[in-house]
Amino acid sequence: MSYSYEAPVSQALFDRASVVTPGGVNSPVRAFRAVGGTPRFMVSGDGPYLTDADGREYVDLVCSWGPMILGHSRPEVIEAVQAAVARGTSFGTPGEGEVALAEEIVGRVAPVEQVRLVSSGTEATMSAIRLARGFTGRAKIVKFAGCYHGHVDALLAAAGSGVATFGLPDTPGVTGAQAGDTVVLPYNDLQAVRDAFAAHSGEIACVITEASPGNMGVVPPREGFNAGLKELCAANGALYISDEVMTGFRTSKAGWYGIDGVAPDLMTFGKVMGGGFPAAAFGGRADVMAHLAPAGPVYQAGTLSGNPVATAAGLAQLRLLDDAAYAKVDAVSAEIRGLVGDALGKEGVAHRVQTAGNMFSVFFTSDEVRDYEDAKRQEAFRFTAFFHSMLADGVYLPPSAFESWFVSTAHDDRAIERVAAALPAAARAAAEATGEGVRA
Ligand SMILES: *Cc1c(COP(=O)(O)O)cnc(C)c1O
Repeated sequence: MSYSYEAPVSQALFDRASVVTPGGVNSPVRAFRAVGGTPRFMVSGDGPYLTDADGREYVDLVCSWGPMILGHSRPEVIEAVQAAVARGTSFGTPGEGEVALAEEIVGRVAPVEQVRLVSSGTEATMSAIRLARGFTGRAKIVKFAGCYHGHVDALLAAAGSGVATFGLPDTPGVTGAQAGDTVVLPYNDLQAVRDAFAAHSGEIACVITEASPGNMGVVPPREGFNAGLKELCAANGALYISDEVMTGFRTSKAGWYGIDGVAPDLMTFGKVMGGGFPAAAFGGRADVMAHLAPAGPVYQAGTLSGNPVATAAGLAQLRLLDDAAYAKVDAVSAEIRGLVGDALGKEGVAHRVQTAGNMFSVFFTSDEVRDYEDAKRQEAFRFTAFFHSMLADGVYLPPSAFESWFVSTAHDDRAIERVAAALPAAARAAAEATGEGVRA
């Protein structure tokens, strides 16, 4: 496929990168493989905008995959980071910033009585699962198809977007032993969970689920699904782990928990809580967390865990995220969703805009998407055409049809007008797309 605009500096950087880095990127979805074309190398971000190496400005509807909920380069966050850097960047000792960030998390999310800081969402879910296994003395874990929990070996089965995008059914490098204790079930299907507990009685350590999935596109839990999971876990002596790496501190002050009120045994966080730095966490019931080293026997550690710069950024961001900030992000999200739906509707493109708080995604199908199988039935080739038209007109969308879009408090009227101006041509491109010559 060829596109009518060029990005010569990004292309040159991508060529250089491809020599020294596999696929030219440090995280697969950035390579644009699902949509084709040249990935844009960004050089700066300001509020709702990103500027690429060719000097083109984009309205950013990815927000670093969620973390930049206040927009880019928010002055208060930058100042907190600069002040922290000036004091030194890593001590390998405890520090007050970690305590303050942990207090902020515990203060916001009632089910979290204690929390351990780590550096990525992957580490958070990996550690939460180890803790659940150590606490229960059981080996098996349940996850849902289409839910992504980072690239933890045991959780890289039917793991949503990254894997969906590349059509890799299984990942080489994960052994049968590592994945063999993972039971993968269809999302939103409580009967399947009931059946799994019956089939593996006394063997299941935990059920891990995205609090509201965003990694197969946005597929919210059906009414009562999370409550049902909690009940089934409690009845069977298993822990209910809610992965809020994406939804945490994004969909409300207390993340998805703040919306559905179902209290998990353990929770995982990342993205927003790092303020654009590598900071993540897992936490929950104090009696479970007490099993973690050095308080208990389940080992877990990290050289840069609770890093003073990362915790300063996260804390500064969380302290700015008050009710008014969430109301603003929700309003921006509603406005953009409305504009997208109108534009696609006008061109007669079959679509569904699905929403979870201020997260949303557009599926190119007229049917409700309740699980991963539904998501895969969409006409992803229409997204490809839509994506490139938006990109050409200065709007940066996630480069995959299986991702959530993210907005921020910084998306003002001018940014939204630019999105609105780009939409009619993109909707037309989606309507005219045929799918010929596009990889499945
Ligand atoms: C992003 C994400 C992760 C992984 O976080 P990393 O920081 O990329 O390791 C885990 N779970 C969910 C739900 C996510 O969205």
